[in-house]
Formats: sequence, structure tokens, C-alpha cells
Amino acid sequence: MSATSYDSVDLAIIGGGIVGLSTAMECARRRPGARVLVLEKEAAVGAHQSSHNSGVIHSGIYYKPGSYKARFARKTAARTLDQAMADAWRWQRTLGAGPK
Ligand SMILES: Cc1cc2nc3c(=O)[nH]c(=O)nc-3n(C[C@H](O)[C@H](O)[C@H](O)COP(=O)(O)OP(=O)(O)OC[C@H]3O[C@@H](n4cnc5c(N)ncnc54)[C@H](O)[C@@H]3O)c2cc1C
Repeated sequence: MSATSYDSVDLAIIGGGIVGLSTAMECARRRPGARVLVLEKEAAVGAHQSSHNSGVIHSGIYYKPGSYKARFARKTAARTLDQAMADAWRWQRTLGAGPK
């Protein structure tokens, strides 16, 4: 991208980890046609924490009961598991294994 074309983006996000990429994806979904730019200092996205973590889906039990953090973790953990199950069934069907 040339230096002048930076003027023509609607939203610039610094950092292409899971937070920056998810934010960019959601902004693009909510505002179709919006010009969203993700600026990443590495040669590839997801090169830091987002690809070097323990892979745990936090349930929210460590957070203060009823707090936003606890409710957010619980809701997103459930959605993540639902998505993982849907993806697993889809892949199983694609590979021709298991129930059709
Ligand atoms: C050891 C470890 C284990 C973890 N285990 C879990 C777990 O089990 N479950 C869980 O839910 N969470 C876990 N986490 C937390 C989770 O990985 C992070 O909260 C999450 O990945 C943070 O994402 P991020 O996008 O904010 O950061 P990052 O993935 O670090 O992305 C930030 C990006 O910004 C870029 N950047 C920085 N400065 C600039 C700049 N000036 N210009 C352009 N780009 C820049 C970096 O290159 C990087 O790509 C763990 C974290 C660690 C460190």
C-alpha cells in the first residue's frame, strides 16, 4: 500500500493477533464496504501470544461471579464449543466418516 492510500481507510487496527484480527473481522461484518486496515509489524499475523498459548477455553470460574468478565467468558466459551462441534461434524462428513 502506498503512503497516500493510508488516508483512504475507515479504520486502522495495530496488531494482527487474535484481538486485532477479530476486531477487524467484526467491524467489516458490521459495516460492509468499510475499508479496514490491519497493521502488523511481523511478516505474518498471529506470530506472538495468539499462536503461543495453552489452548485453554476459559470457563470464567476464576472471575468474580456475575462480573462482566465472568459472564463474557461463560458466553464465549459456550459459543466456541458449539462452533468447534459444528466444525468437527462438518469435517467428519467431508472425510466421509461417522454419521451422515
Ligand atoms: C504463555 C501463554 C499462555 C496462554 N494461554 C491461554 C489459554 O490457554 N487460553 C486463552 O484464552 N488465553 C491464553 N493466553 C492469552 C492469549 O493468548 C492472549 O490473551 C491473546 O493471544 C492476546 O491476543 P492479542 O491479539 O492481544 O496479542 P498478540 O497475539 O500478541 O498480538 C499482538 C500483535 O500486535 C503486533 N504488534 C505489536 N506492536 C506492534 C506495532 N507497533 N505495530 C504493528 N504491530 C504490532 C504483534 O506483532 C502481534 O502480532 C495465554 C498467553 C500466554 C502468553
